Amino acid sequence: MTRVDSRPPPATRSSRPPPLVLEQPALPPLVEAVNLTKEFRVERRLFARSRYLHAVEDVTFNILPGETVGLVGESGSGKSTLGRLLLRLLEPSFGQVRFDGTVITQLTDRELRPLRRKMQMVFQDPYSSLNPRMTVERIVGEPLRVHHLVNGDQQMREKVSGLLQRVGLAAENIDRLPHEFSGGQRQRVGIARALAAAPSFIVCDEPTSALDVSIQAQIINLLLDLQEQANLTYLFISHDLGVVQAVSHRVMVMYLGRIVEIAPTAALFSASQHPYTRALLSAVLQPDPTRRRLRLVVEGEPPSPIDPPPGCAFHPRCPRALAGRCNQEVPTLSEIVPGSGHFVACFNPHG
Ligand code: ADP
Ligand code: MG
Repeated sequence: MTRVDSRPPPATRSSRPPPLVLEQPALPPLVEAVNLTKEFRVERRLFARSRYLHAVEDVTFNILPGETVGLVGESGSGKSTLGRLLLRLLEPSFGQVRFDGTVITQLTDRELRPLRRKMQMVFQDPYSSLNPRMTVERIVGEPLRVHHLVNGDQQMREKVSGLLQRVGLAAENIDRLPHEFSGGQRQRVGIARALAAAPSFIVCDEPTSALDVSIQAQIINLLLDLQEQANLTYLFISHDLGVVQAVSHRVMVMYLGRIVEIAPTAALFSASQHPYTRALLSAVLQPDPTRRRLRLVVEGEPPSPIDPPPGCAFHPRCPRALAGRCNQEVPTLSEIVPGSGHFVACFNPHG
């Protein structure tokens, strides 16, 4: 496997600060996932026993205030499902999510409502996530209306105009419809909407994957600027390792629903320990003609999440698998050096 990454890393501002996790160990996390698990029931043929697809399996991690945690993994590894679980857009099958100290997975809808506005999502495809018949004012203003954050039409227009300016769009765009914008501008509208209710946590789910390379860096820089201005905390999902490297303080790697490695960004990119992470970093980035986006390719096919291999799910593709161990036991995350913040779930990691 050779690295043929034709795309230059996005021209983001100089570099990120060192990992918050090492700087401020006493800071309580903003978001915590504890043994988070999501199984989808998949109906098969008539009268056949229904089976379960393990989309997210026993995931435990946290995100500190102001931090960006990058999440990478092949398509189908459970990234979007994990993001949606954190925002409680999906109910977990097992485990907990805590937001700012509150266990949100046990709240009723009514109890959850005041927290909802603190947690938002930016989607991959700004076109399909924006209602094509709604004006920008209605799209961006909807969270303001839902959470009763404005009084009257005049204040709504003022607030939405201000939000448009914050994301680099002229206030005159307020009465336009989504199709009147370019892809990058539409993503700015999506970001303005996510920002409207003054959130503290945003799940960015492949926010630049549908955009031209030239536009991607602008959107990344906007997200970084907004983070600085508003002390936002991000989970940044992407299959584009260059983008993840540019924006993240820490990076998590997911494989078949599990986190296999998590580390401060520099450590992950210079000294990854999990054979799967190594494979990802050296994988060919191939254009996927059917989906007009880049797709990571690691040798061999990922196994089915309906019938995952026993032991470590990566063992059938792993060049370092140990017979009698990796095909039998599930490795758990352990810190390679105490205090390093570098965790790997592997019985035979790269040293
Ligand atoms: P990723 O974002 O990493 O591509 P997803 O979280 O979208 O992965 O999906 C993880 C797995 O869960 C995939 O196998 C996908 O087909 C499955 N999945 C996602 N949503 C559902 C659903 N609502 N019902 C059944 N299976 C689902
Ligand atoms: Mg996804």
